[in-house]
Amino acid sequence: MIKKPSAYFNLPNKVAFCNFCVLSNQRPHSVSEFKHKKDRKGAIYLSIDKDGKCDACKMAEWKKTKIDWDQREKELKKLCDKYRKKDGNYDCIVPGSGGKDSSYQSYVLKNKYGMNPLTVTWPPIMYTDYGFKNFKSWIDTGYDNISFHPNGDVMRKLVSLSIKNLLHPFQAFILGQYNMPPKIAAKYDIKLIFYGETHADYGSPIIETSKSLRSKSFHTYSNIKDIYIGGEKYSDLVENFKISKKDLENFLPMKEDEFKKSDIKVLALGYYLKWEPQEVYYHAVENSGFKPRPFRSQGTYSKYSSIDDKVDDLHYYTTYIKFGIGRATYDAAHEIRNKHITREEGIELVEKYDGEFPDRYFKEVTDYLQISQDEFFESCDKFRSPHLWVKKSNSWKLRHTVGQRGEDDNKK
Ligand SMILES: [Zn+2]
Repeated sequence: MIKKPSAYFNLPNKVAFCNFCVLSNQRPHSVSEFKHKKDRKGAIYLSIDKDGKCDACKMAEWKKTKIDWDQREKELKKLCDKYRKKDGNYDCIVPGSGGKDSSYQSYVLKNKYGMNPLTVTWPPIMYTDYGFKNFKSWIDTGYDNISFHPNGDVMRKLVSLSIKNLLHPFQAFILGQYNMPPKIAAKYDIKLIFYGETHADYGSPIIETSKSLRSKSFHTYSNIKDIYIGGEKYSDLVENFKISKKDLENFLPMKEDEFKKSDIKVLALGYYLKWEPQEVYYHAVENSGFKPRPFRSQGTYSKYSSIDDKVDDLHYYTTYIKFGIGRATYDAAHEIRNKHITREEGIELVEKYDGEFPDRYFKEVTDYLQISQDEFFESCDKFRSPHLWVKKSNSWKLRHTVGQRGEDDNKK
């Protein structure tokens, strides 16, 4: 009897693709990064129902047919009326680094709903030059901004650990992106924080979008013993890796009781306003001087999403290794749902670009991290789950692909 290849990290052993987009059931749900352990215990993945429809596709349908957007906008106006400060002081925070989403968020809040946003930036680990220009141009269109650069040496250590232990080069960035804005809000007595899309737009359980508040599990903690960064326990980071508590503090969420006391609301603007990446992109070009990347992003066909951090390209490559789905899959899935491309076109794009190795900034990134390129690739190979990958004549092949061209797709 042939033994079934095993699945790492709690991944569903049987790979299934959505019949309507190109995502597979290997796509992980967003989790609180500070609870992310090496074994990914408790991880959950995209649900696909018996008709072959994934939660992200269902969500897209809901957005088109079931959600009363006029009603949602009324809710937003009511909220803004309640919190708007008449003296012009900051009444909300828009976290971001000047990408298309944060440009759109700050613009509509300020110009359409009369709010006084403070923009807060946890900068990319390694800014691209065009990403930095977009950031400048965003602020120059009329916003105050607080950028918080954490200690670069600590950032480097945490990113290196997250690659070694989790193959997750973007974790330290994500931590700051979620955890720093509430702390700034508390300092300035600002009660509202508006992120962009809801997690459900990407396939997290639909229940998450039936309310505007983001789950506090993403930005609070109650016991320091529960905290992991880069796959290491907080106490080990302090004792074994010699990272000071003060430096780690910048990456930690707020304590639950302090958060409660501050009465801050962390919201997704995508709950109130219909969010279409392409529309948001056009809006940012027109109103904030946003410019797309001057060339195609490696691993996909698009030029305007997640372009400000050199490490981001590598991040998408690691999702391809860990889950068998790369950057083109994420982009195509979104565009199929918004009916900009057909599923067949999406499959072609995935086959052409998914998993393309992002070599453009690779040397710079590994030099910055002080890891060798071989170390990175060795780490990748450790994270290839046997149920997804097989080695054939010295090269790695996916067992299953959305276009049914995987090594095991035609085997019974
Ligand atoms: Zn789908």
